[in-house]
Amino acid sequence: MVPYKQPYHWSQGIVHAACVVLVEVQTNEGVTGYGECIGTPSAPAIEAHLRLAEGMCLNRSPFENARLMKEVYHALFESFGTCSSPRYAGQLLAGLEMALWDVMGKASGRAVHELLGGAVRDEIQYFGFPQGETAQEVAAWAKQLADEGCSVFYVKVGRGDALDLEVVEQVRAVIGPDCRLRLDPNEHWGRLTASRMIPKVAEFDIEFIEQPTHCESISALAQVRQASPVAIAADQAVFTPAEVYDVCRENAADLIVLGLHETGGITNFRKAAHIAEAAGINICTHGLYETGITTCAMNQAAATIVNLDDGNQYMNHFLQWDIVKHPNLELKNGRLPVLTGPGLGFQLDDDAVERAKELYVKSVQ
Ligand SMILES: [Mg+2]
Repeated sequence: MVPYKQPYHWSQGIVHAACVVLVEVQTNEGVTGYGECIGTPSAPAIEAHLRLAEGMCLNRSPFENARLMKEVYHALFESFGTCSSPRYAGQLLAGLEMALWDVMGKASGRAVHELLGGAVRDEIQYFGFPQGETAQEVAAWAKQLADEGCSVFYVKVGRGDALDLEVVEQVRAVIGPDCRLRLDPNEHWGRLTASRMIPKVAEFDIEFIEQPTHCESISALAQVRQASPVAIAADQAVFTPAEVYDVCRENAADLIVLGLHETGGITNFRKAAHIAEAAGINICTHGLYETGITTCAMNQAAATIVNLDDGNQYMNHFLQWDIVKHPNLELKNGRLPVLTGPGLGFQLDDDAVERAKELYVKSVQ
């Protein structure tokens, strides 16, 4: 568990720390790879399921990654008929899948993006993500980002009509007319709220509204999009390649927001991105309560995606400190270079891992 610099406010609540389960994979040749799973709602439950997967990976080659994921998914979920499990399975398998990629890269002396066919870009661009409880706080942070040269902004809404409008108005005022501004109500604008709020926020030149409606209905998203004067992005509606296909087929979104913890790792993330590419839709990387490990893994995957957006999300900069020692993941001009590896391209900070472990233990006592 790594605490945030300040409480993180969004439509579903307030978050104070990132809780992850560190996944370590060792080979008999002395190669160690790392990944991480999001540790919610219960890190021990995630760990228990990972232990089942661990048993299936013993004495197997990391270069069987895709086959191992298929076998684990079958054994833990499909074989019990739990057809509603793809989303949880994605959250569970992401850490193991990325750790296996880390091993594959380190064993080969190559960056993971090289094993994936090579990078199509030299850097990944990110959006500015101002935080705060009040509109004044969000706007003050946005002003600071604008002064640093940020040109794409993303703010959380869905926290009540009055506060939402105040946030949008104040942020637009400080970033000026030329910057791009995106809003994310995180499923809190049902169709009625969306029809009321979207015309109001549209006056502030909004680039897109992300996942206004509930995650389970692609149809609701498509219907909001049909009536909306502002572009619509899909986030929680899409986890799997099949869901990306459905969003594209239903014309439900102008952009797809997707991360490794939804798809279950790098391979499925790339499959999903390719489907969106065929539909002419960009992929914006998604952030969750994660550390620099995910930022590095996502960097490797995103490097290979042709239809990557130019304003991506990452969350490790909200952490008070990271468990990644190297490289420095601080953005320069809103960008990170594509990491050179080997593997996922990071070195773990063992002391920070120990500190994170102590904080977690203390939090559950
Ligand atoms: Mg979102």
